[in-house]
Amino acid sequence: MSEKGMTPPPGNPPPEFRVGSGTDVHAFGPGDAVMLGGVRVPHERGVLAHSDGDVLLHALVDALLGAAGLGDIGQHFPDTDARWRGADSRQFVTATLALLRARGWQPVNADLTLLAERPRLAPWREAIRDSVAALLQLPADAVNLKATTTEKLGFLGRGEGLMAQATVLVRRG
Ligand code: MG
Repeated sequence: MSEKGMTPPPGNPPPEFRVGSGTDVHAFGPGDAVMLGGVRVPHERGVLAHSDGDVLLHALVDALLGAAGLGDIGQHFPDTDARWRGADSRQFVTATLALLRARGWQPVNADLTLLAERPRLAPWREAIRDSVAALLQLPADAVNLKATTTEKLGFLGRGEGLMAQATVLVRRG
């Protein structure tokens, strides 16, 4: 190999990529709707939560924080803080993105899973995907939303609550 061939290519260094994961659970409680990905989904129950209890967005925030090495949602938005009482969880995502951007990170894609017997996600899938994509300032095809039941097993199967998981990739450079 020539000496020229050993030198790194000119221009910017290659981008860095990191992955993060997040999980969230909320129990059902009184109410007539649940927030999922910033979308109000009518349901015969609400969720018990300090904020609006949006499990998809809470899992997403944890995944973003995880990818950037910034801890978890409870450290940044503690449920002991009156500021977050009844909070629209979209503001957690927006504030988290600002933390990431200050360190040069931007999301590449997000893959979200809702685990619940009900509500069924199908009628809301596109609206939720669009909502999350808009929050992340990503094209819709960079956000994926999956749903599964737990075959009637466990607390989710008994319809006691909702669970969400999120995986995100972030890049810098
Ligand atoms: Mg939560």
